[in-house]
Amino acid sequence: MVGGGQAGLAAGYYLRRAGLDFAILDAAPAPGGAWQHYWESLRLFSPAAYSSLPGRPMPGQAGQEYPDAAHVVAYLTEYEKRYELPVHRSVWVSGVERGPGGLSARTDSGTWRSQAVVFATGSWERPFVPAVPGRGVFGGRQLHTYGYRGPAEFAGQRVLVVGGGNSGAQIAADLTAVAEVRWATRRTPRFLPDEIDGRALFDLATRRVHAAADGPAHGGVGSLGDIVATPPVRAARDAGLLVAHPMFERLTESGATWADGTAWDCDTVVWCTGFRPDLASLRPLGLRPSHGRIPTEGTRSVEDPRIHLLGYGDWTGPASATLIGVGRTARTAVQQISTLLHTTDLDT
Ligand code: FAD
Repeated sequence: MVGGGQAGLAAGYYLRRAGLDFAILDAAPAPGGAWQHYWESLRLFSPAAYSSLPGRPMPGQAGQEYPDAAHVVAYLTEYEKRYELPVHRSVWVSGVERGPGGLSARTDSGTWRSQAVVFATGSWERPFVPAVPGRGVFGGRQLHTYGYRGPAEFAGQRVLVVGGGNSGAQIAADLTAVAEVRWATRRTPRFLPDEIDGRALFDLATRRVHAAADGPAHGGVGSLGDIVATPPVRAARDAGLLVAHPMFERLTESGATWADGTAWDCDTVVWCTGFRPDLASLRPLGLRPSHGRIPTEGTRSVEDPRIHLLGYGDWTGPASATLIGVGRTARTAVQQISTLLHTTDLDT
């Protein structure tokens, strides 16, 4: 297994149950995957009970219906210990390649050999910023969600927040307390109805799994909207502070300009424009990517059934990039590996 975040641990849980011999190699020095890097005011978009990995429900956090990132890190740390998952930390996998009799993972602490590999490297280390004219000209500070640590350092500033997804809405809402914020989105942000949070998203994803005929007629999760109205987002929106503007045309030395000729000067631009799957360690396998993704059936590589990709997004299984959703895809991946290796099936 390459990666010891939530996806790696969920797969570890099922590998342990299947009685397979495995190791989890994780580059980070401490448990928690990407959750270690999120900002203090970030809240989960589901209550604790709907943010659990297989086997062990996430306990509630005192005083918070929607737990914070530190709570998730504590949960993942405990999870790893409880199931005695063999996580080897500060082990960076530079590449996995085919060798005689199996697969070899080259790491900064030697070579590991195995019959199958699950990639669960997440996307945190590949922040994406679109090519917008003037990006190199802007004289103020630019950062990505990746570098956001909280609102304090932006007190008194004018801040342009770019991106109409959950992190854009949450960071813009967060900043409204201390800064003058302008929120630019490519299309009009679509808030989910207030009563809908990650619970309902997961239920919808579940329905998609069961509805084999699910197609364009069923709009799935996206048909409801994109942004979960967490309490801080709702509060900022209801106070009239979270107002979306169209995407600007270009950055200038002092700010941004729009197609209609308006301009807005600012100190900082925060790019909340997403992440891309971190697939560098797969490269030596020569699997042909298509649109930045490795073709898979579920989690399994179409080209090589010994390779699984877990947790990167809906393309590796519905809700596979969420705490509650990754268990289902991890289970199927381990079942398939187990069958491939001619060992006990999880259902037996
Ligand atoms: P990660 O958590 O990124 O873990 C990957 C691990 O692999 C890391 O420890 C990394 O060090 C290691 N790694 C990477 N490359 C290598 C390598 N070459 N060799 C060895 N190790 C490697 N999800 C929810 O369920 N609920 C939420 O409320 C929620 N809110 C979110 C808010 C924000 C702002 C963001 C950005 C995401 C949110 N998510 C939420 C999504 C969730 O946090 C991620 O999808 C999740 O962390 C991905 O887990 P992972 O295990 O796939 O990857």
